[in-house]
Amino acid sequence: MTIKENNNTKNSVIIIGAGLASLALANVLKYQGVPYKIFEREKSPDDRTQGWSLSMHFCLVSLKASMDPVKYATLGEKSAVDPEFPQKADFCMVNGNTGERVASVGGYPGVDVFRVNRKRFRAWLMEGIDVTWNKRLEHYKVTEEGVEATFTDGTVEYGRLIVGADGVNSQVCRQLIGAEEFNKTTTPNPLRVLACSYWVNSELRRQIEESLAPAHMMSIASSTEDAEHSICLFSSLIDVDKSRENPYEMVWSISNLDENEPHYETDQERLKQAKEWLNNAGFTGPLHQLVMETPEGTNMVALQLRERSPHSKLDTLQRDLPVVLVGDALHTMTMYRGEGGNHAIEDSSLLGMELAKFYKGEKSLEEAVDIYYKEALPRGRKAVADSHEAAKTVHSSRAKVLAMINATKAAIEKRYIEKLNQEENNNNNTSSADSSNA
Ligand SMILES: Cc1cc2nc3c(=O)[nH]c(=O)nc-3n(C[C@H](O)[C@H](O)[C@H](O)COP(=O)(O)OP(=O)(O)OC[C@H]3O[C@@H](n4cnc5c(N)ncnc54)[C@H](O)[C@@H]3O)c2cc1C
Repeated sequence: MTIKENNNTKNSVIIIGAGLASLALANVLKYQGVPYKIFEREKSPDDRTQGWSLSMHFCLVSLKASMDPVKYATLGEKSAVDPEFPQKADFCMVNGNTGERVASVGGYPGVDVFRVNRKRFRAWLMEGIDVTWNKRLEHYKVTEEGVEATFTDGTVEYGRLIVGADGVNSQVCRQLIGAEEFNKTTTPNPLRVLACSYWVNSELRRQIEESLAPAHMMSIASSTEDAEHSICLFSSLIDVDKSRENPYEMVWSISNLDENEPHYETDQERLKQAKEWLNNAGFTGPLHQLVMETPEGTNMVALQLRERSPHSKLDTLQRDLPVVLVGDALHTMTMYRGEGGNHAIEDSSLLGMELAKFYKGEKSLEEAVDIYYKEALPRGRKAVADSHEAAKTVHSSRAKVLAMINATKAAIEKRYIEKLNQEENNNNNTSSADSSNA
């Protein structure tokens, strides 16, 4: 049976959630001609503040190879933090005690890397993609033909399979592995994180860009040379609007392994606490200035980080079960390696291509899901563990932080070479397909 013959709504892929994983999957399915339906609990695309900014790097090779190339070509100009210079995505590590840059990564020719404004990136992913809003999944039921998804408003939708792209609190994952296991394996990370964004003036922005990095940076400082713990200060450009008096929107977040109960309830108290951590650790330089000049009244957020490695039940699950997880629903990690969203999109690109083979009748569902999980489960487990370790290391002693910086740089360069090879293979495959079609 061809995809066209199969294209009735009961045969669709039901996708729960409209985050990065879901929307990337929908782009792949749409381009591959597979019917899909997305259901999102939020009332509209603007219901929730869509975070700040993200680095999109290793996932882009797979995404580019599986979605509409005409749309893909507009990614940078439509979603980069600075649309005028979409390729400016370099990252640097800073010695917070001296204010000096200690390592930079970026500027790798041949492989796309973008620092994207999360709201614009989601809007770009959503272009041409249908989403049904205000639909919160309550539970699913596996039937002989596929799945039934029941929503909290009492409505039911039918599909061939259901994909849980519903994030850290995934209802699909909760039902799949059981509530008890779900609660046991979703763990809070002990770090305390305070964050905010505000519009800064051109002079401060110039200092940050010239002495540190144009896109984003992580600065680490500790009260003494041999202190056991460090404080981590992360900052990134989010947006540019040259018509404003202060034309650059920057986010900063400061994190600390503080075992004391938090004593901040208001924005003012959170800002005071952040400045106290900053000054006690002896930060200096333009990033110190960025935090210290935060206007009173700025909305300050206390982030609660959670982690969940792909559950062992997923290894033994029947592969023809029409229930699959992607993104944070499958693996939730801390943001200290800037990878969660990349893994979400990598999952979706791979799963989308495998599902296309199933819908074209080239593979059984069992084979398609098996290939997907064989790659995604070990990759997801490693990513959760590595991100946990990175969170610990950037808050440890200066010597450990330095060793991590060198190891990270080497790992990024190794991955860059792998991705460059993958990109070349993809290009060779495309040109040999073109010449055989000619
Ligand atoms: C501060 C911070 C910085 C980060 N920086 C980076 C970075 O630089 N690079 C990177 O790669 N990653 C980064 N990440 C991680 C990245 O944001 C996540 O991994 C990514 O957003 C996960 O996407 P997702 O689609 O799986 O989940 P989500 O984006 O959480 O989407 C899930 C969607 O499902 C919906 N939903 C939930 N339950 C239901 C339900 N029952 N019914 C219907 N809909 C439902 C939700 O409303 C939501 O829209 C960062 C994370 C944080 C917190």
